[in-house]
Amino acid sequence: MDASQKAAFCTPIAAQLLPNRLMVIEKLSSEQVRDFCVVGTGPVGMALALELENLGHEVLLLEAGGQQPDSETGAASKAQIVNPGRHAPMEIAVCRALGGTSWTWGGRCVAYDDIDWMDRSYVADAHWPLKHDELRPWYRRAAEYLLCGNDQFSTPYHQQLSGGLTLDFVERWARESRVILEHRDQLLQSTRIKLSLRSTVTAVNISTGGDRVESLTVSTPDGPVMVRAKKFILAMGGVETTRLLLHTQRNWPQHFGGSEWPAGTLLHGTHFG
Ligand SMILES: Cc1cc2nc3c(=O)[nH]c(=O)nc-3n(C[C@H](O)[C@H](O)[C@H](O)COP(=O)(O)OP(=O)(O)OC[C@H]3O[C@@H](n4cnc5c(N)ncnc54)[C@H](O)[C@@H]3O)c2cc1C
Repeated sequence: MDASQKAAFCTPIAAQLLPNRLMVIEKLSSEQVRDFCVVGTGPVGMALALELENLGHEVLLLEAGGQQPDSETGAASKAQIVNPGRHAPMEIAVCRALGGTSWTWGGRCVAYDDIDWMDRSYVADAHWPLKHDELRPWYRRAAEYLLCGNDQFSTPYHQQLSGGLTLDFVERWARESRVILEHRDQLLQSTRIKLSLRSTVTAVNISTGGDRVESLTVSTPDGPVMVRAKKFILAMGGVETTRLLLHTQRNWPQHFGGSEWPAGTLLHGTHFG
């Protein structure tokens, strides 16, 4: 794939689906303090904002991209891929737009395997702060957001296979991989969720004591704005969340794993095959 093909990777289908429709966007203000500020509108940020709304919270939702993917915004996700064999080019791996990388993802939905939650010698410091059983009850809601039916990810298959193999694993697929298209109206019509597109978080501002995030610095077409909230959630995807945390760590070297295990140490692309 040459550079121009890569740049155009996620644009054409998106353009057909969202013909010049202007979204409801509010101008960002430093004054208003909402319950939550969620950064990123990919599958994670989108679902979080809607869940928080259901719980009655006021949410400010920030999104770096516009209403559909474009190569200019996408260029901000440039990165040096140290081992191209292990990570897709950034033009493909990250999609900056309302809906995030769900514009380009495959829509394949599977549950975690139990081994993902076990302590393993080869990922010695990778411990989850929760257990798989605590997550399981949420698969049903996740399946609803991801439009993949229900939370049944295994089914008994009684025929005997050789070599101790089992055939009981269910792989589900989103009926519309661009899940934002299904949830967009709810997001935009919400009275509790305020969405601001073209709002790129460039810094996390931590209190003098180092124990609290006070604000985020957000780059907007009208200039930089400091955004305040009671709680902040970074849902910017694996690469961009890590990038922002590493940037923050420059001033707070002991935060986010310190210098020994800095954020992103175990980050890798999807394994195939
Ligand atoms: C080609 C491809 C195929 C894939 N197929 C599958 C699949 O079949 N099944 C599967 O489970 N996964 C798949 N994935 C992975 C999947 O797309 C991601 O795991 C998923 O999108 C992550 O969701 P997210 O909400 O965490 O992040 P993202 O979807 O990446 O969304 C992050 C959002 O944050 C925004 N953002 C980033 N930086 C900033 C900033 N500084 N300020 C404000 N906003 C910011 C972005 O614009 C974006 O909207 C695939 C990925 C690719 C690239």
